[in-house]
Amino acid sequence: MESIKYDQQDVKGLQVKVSVINGILIFMTCLLAACLLFVTIHTSQKYTEIDDSARDYIELEKQADLVKDASDYLTEQVRLFVQNIDIKYVQLYFEEANVTRRREVALEHLKTYYLDDSGEQYLQAAVRDSQLLMKREIYAMKLVCTAMGYQEDMLPIEIQEMVLEEEDTLLEAQAMMEKARSMMFDTEYQYSKSVIYGNLEYFMQEVIYFTEGRLIGGLEDFSDAIFMQEVLIILIVIVITSICVVIACFVIRPLNICLKCVKEESMIEVTGAYEFRRIAEVYNDIYRKKEASAANEAFLRYKAEHDPMTGLLNRSAFAQIKELLENDEIPLALLIIDVDKFKQVNDNYGHGVGDCILMRIAELLKEYFLAQDYLFRIGGDEFAAIITEVTEEQTYVIEERIQNINMELQHPIEGMPQVSLSVGAVFSAKGYDEELYKQADQALYWMKENGRCGCHFYGD
Ligand code: GH3
Ligand code: MG
Repeated sequence: MESIKYDQQDVKGLQVKVSVINGILIFMTCLLAACLLFVTIHTSQKYTEIDDSARDYIELEKQADLVKDASDYLTEQVRLFVQNIDIKYVQLYFEEANVTRRREVALEHLKTYYLDDSGEQYLQAAVRDSQLLMKREIYAMKLVCTAMGYQEDMLPIEIQEMVLEEEDTLLEAQAMMEKARSMMFDTEYQYSKSVIYGNLEYFMQEVIYFTEGRLIGGLEDFSDAIFMQEVLIILIVIVITSICVVIACFVIRPLNICLKCVKEESMIEVTGAYEFRRIAEVYNDIYRKKEASAANEAFLRYKAEHDPMTGLLNRSAFAQIKELLENDEIPLALLIIDVDKFKQVNDNYGHGVGDCILMRIAELLKEYFLAQDYLFRIGGDEFAAIITEVTEEQTYVIEERIQNINMELQHPIEGMPQVSLSVGAVFSAKGYDEELYKQADQALYWMKENGRCGCHFYGD
């Protein structure tokens, strides 16, 4: 078969390639997936930031409370000492102030967690006031220790180093005690403490503002990131849906059409993606060429089997059909038909008229015999008919048909000569055999010898 070459331009209509669409959709899916991954990481970072802010706030509150608690503890120990005059409270005080140092540790923590410096001033003021208050507390303890006459070297170094004012050294022990108690319970001391608490409160408020700012900022970013995630997920769903639609319209539908048409051996509808349109056009071209060659073959076969003038089957077809029927079991009749004195027609009216007569005879044979009967022109003015599924009982049917044909030939249209047919016929109960032709020919010979224009059956 001739090879078929197709260029891109040969494919008409939509030039959408499945491979290109596929590439675009894969690229878009990858891009969206990468964006989604990025946004998801960003969202998770924002969540961590919010979480950190909340934890930092809790931790800051805890540390601020610790500062307050530690400060209160020191106050309590001094107050207990000046009231109960028990040296263990001094020890507890300095253990807290120098060893446990909860306040200092908490302040260090506050500095680590609190990253803004707007509240720093309040914290520093609280620390400064707290240290000043400690001097007052140590002074009060020194007064009590002096009043009680404790040995200096037994006392903590801070008390030892504290120097009493001159006027206080002159005081009686009882007055010293009174002064110490007053220093720890008077309004000045309370005021100093409230100033420290106030500064710690201010600091905590700054912490709240700062944490709120972090939380609100974080939440806004977080909700933006969630929104972006939603948009990306919707886009991914749209892209996936598009992939399904594209596959259904450009691949599955044309593929089904292709399969159906190939099964039905019909032309394929040119539809779908470029690749399927190309397949359809190549297939349709092959299909058209095949159809044309089949038509050509049929035409050549028709020409080989038919007489060109009358359109009846020719001698070679007669030989083939005889051969076919030789193996058959059906009852049949063979008729050999010859035009009477045809030579005279040609001589008197010319060959053109003779041809017209032959064509008219062919027409009448087709008219009076059935479609399943075989009609042949086997010689110049000689015809044959093989009538299938017929027995001797139907002799009269054949006779009647020949009679009618002869009647028609006896009444031709104006200007045409009258002619007649002589027919020799023979029946076979089972298929065709070589003897039949001879027998039909003998019957025809008998008819020619006995008046022509009629049908004689072999054996009658
Ligand atoms: P008979 O009754 O004995 O058959 O006499 P006949 O004149 O018909 O004799 P025959 O059948 O032998 O003659 C056949 C003639 O048919 C011979 C020839 O001139 C003529 N013929 C053969 N082929 C053609 C044809 O194609 N066209 C025409 N016009 N005449 C043909
Ligand atoms: Mg003849």
